[in-house]
Amino acid sequence: MNSLSQSRNQVLQQIEQACQHAQRAPDSVQLLAVSKTQPSEALREMYQAGQRQFAENYLQEGLDKIENLHDLEIEWHFIGHVQRNKTKHLAEKFAWVQGVDRLIIAERLSAQRDATQAPLNICLQVNIDHQDSKDGCQPEEVAALVEAISLLPQLKLRGLMVIPAPNHPQAFMDAKQLFTTVKAAHAHPEDWDTLSMGMSGDLNDAIAAGSSMVRVGTALFGARAYSDKA
Ligand SMILES: *Cc1c(COP(=O)(O)O)cnc(C)c1O
Repeated sequence: MNSLSQSRNQVLQQIEQACQHAQRAPDSVQLLAVSKTQPSEALREMYQAGQRQFAENYLQEGLDKIENLHDLEIEWHFIGHVQRNKTKHLAEKFAWVQGVDRLIIAERLSAQRDATQAPLNICLQVNIDHQDSKDGCQPEEVAALVEAISLLPQLKLRGLMVIPAPNHPQAFMDAKQLFTTVKAAHAHPEDWDTLSMGMSGDLNDAIAAGSSMVRVGTALFGARAYSDKA
């Protein structure tokens, strides 16, 4: 067994144990492999180990890898900051966009998603712990955004994505609470099934609080070669 396959098994085991602790079903948390800065070959190896969902933070880097790996059946997620003038490629090439925090961005993504494609899956990014320099809408804005975005035709609004400050497990509980309450504002509440939170360093706390998707980079691929600009 190669090392990427080993590290993936370790992360899957950690998820399973965290689910057990929280008395949750082991398949209630999905593993999203965060592959920013990793070469396409590393993704290919991780795919051969069984991984199907990958996430990129930078548009051009993501597009290059989508091109390089088009022979694989990967579900591509975009988890970086979405710039208003960069929505077209996101709408065309990705299956999920998790960094949506304004209505105008969602409107553009919906307009630019081809009607012959499956709807584009969306998570609203929320600045759950009111960090100064963070992307994401304010918690108070979420209900109105859910109401408006859930009506857009080429989108499927799946849930929330948060990136709290380190060592702040309360933020995960706040996110879970918000996730639960704003479901009532959704035009298609049956689509509302994703709470994307938890990374390499804090996935146990996130799962304990109710995460349904952890975004893991370092624990899968090792330390990144250059620093995270996100
Ligand atoms: C880089 C990144 C991750 C992964 O972080 P690790 O600590 O390497 O697991 C998760 N989510 C987002 C939004 C990121 O930018």
